Amino acid sequence: MSQEKGAKKGEERPELAPPRGTNDLLPPESWRWSFVTRLAMDTFAGAGYAPVDTPAFEHTEIFERGVGAASEVVGKQMYTFTDRGGRSLTLRPELTAPVMRAVLAGNLHRSRLPVKLAYAGPMFRQERPQRGRHRQFFQVGIEAIGSAEPAVDAEVIEVGASFLEAAGVRASLLLNSIGHVDPACRTGYLKLLVEYLEARRDELAAADVERIAANPLRTFDSKETKTREVMQGAPLISDHLCDACATHLESVLAILDELGVAFEVEPRLVRGLDYYTRTAFEFTSPDLGAQDAVGGGGRYDGLAAALGGDELPGIGFALGIDRILLAAGDQGDETAGGTLDAYVVAIGDAARRAALGLATRLRRAGLAVDLDLMGRSVRGQMRDAARSRARSAVILGDAEIAAQAATVRDLGTGEERSVALGDLEGRLLP
Ligand code: AMP
Repeated sequence: MSQEKGAKKGEERPELAPPRGTNDLLPPESWRWSFVTRLAMDTFAGAGYAPVDTPAFEHTEIFERGVGAASEVVGKQMYTFTDRGGRSLTLRPELTAPVMRAVLAGNLHRSRLPVKLAYAGPMFRQERPQRGRHRQFFQVGIEAIGSAEPAVDAEVIEVGASFLEAAGVRASLLLNSIGHVDPACRTGYLKLLVEYLEARRDELAAADVERIAANPLRTFDSKETKTREVMQGAPLISDHLCDACATHLESVLAILDELGVAFEVEPRLVRGLDYYTRTAFEFTSPDLGAQDAVGGGGRYDGLAAALGGDELPGIGFALGIDRILLAAGDQGDETAGGTLDAYVVAIGDAARRAALGLATRLRRAGLAVDLDLMGRSVRGQMRDAARSRARSAVILGDAEIAAQAATVRDLGTGEERSVALGDLEGRLLP
């Protein structure tokens, strides 16, 4: 998790620092992380996407077949290990292939279609760590499996845009179609692209020359200035889509217009993973640095067959929580949770004995309540109450116990009032 704020992790005790590229997720940042993750799953559930989770590791071939051996993720970034039984396993670098595997394994596609699933969890890629790029990072995402209708593309994209807005992220939506594997569509186009790139081999950055044979579409993703200049003149997939793919794209754009979702068609947008077909999209934020992609997704009509299952179209996206929190900045801190309704302050032995009972009673009524568990003095308890960010202090002393009433102090304004112990539940609500 991102720790851009505050002391650098492990600075004082390097032997206790987490592995390079990973972060401990600590309060108060963890409150925002937990709030945004819940907001995502709630937003997705509101559109009919049920929670799903799969193991943190899979058989390596799930990613080799489902993501593609030529992709950067599989070729260069996977945490692959051999277990004690000699099996090759890999920590999941993404969740689309595992979710599709799970759908096929569980025969979910034989019941109600489309199968709509939502996830939140850690992914693992051995990348060079930098701001917004870690080796363990969190993603939330959805997958809609079993429909090739353009309405599903539009729904998935709209749900992503709605969630980002609710999370306080300023995001632009970039959209393209990368066609499908067919001589009259992407396959034919790739020939033209490879010819174009071969003719300009010497003008490309060295790292991109390799891509001509392995993954030519990815040359559009190059960050190298030399390559980017070459790509300005490259043939574009949008000019070489087959009629069916072109019509599909037109329909998706028309539905998004109707839904009021703002987008920009970006003919140079491609996705790095092999199984993507047709719709490809990305959310970027101007509030991030070099790593400005908040997330992206697309259609993957070829994935189920690549995994050895039935032909099953699908579309989904994955958004990075780390970058969502960076892009949202301090927005939403107030609603991110971590605020307590009350802090019970106990004065004297009788009150100390009664304090945990009172806190428990209030908690059972649904209030968020904390109290001193360190034997602090009254001043110490008041200081701790302020630090705890509780809205009110419920002060309990001998006089209060005798009167069966507590003194409730508003920790914002300092105002005090006496509240009968039996009425506390109702009176402590905001
Ligand atoms: P991808 O699965 O590569 O399309 O990534 C989707 C989103 O996940 C990105 O836009 C990022 O927000 C996030 N993401 C991917 N890789 C990383 C990483 N190494 N560190 C942090 N976030 C990442």
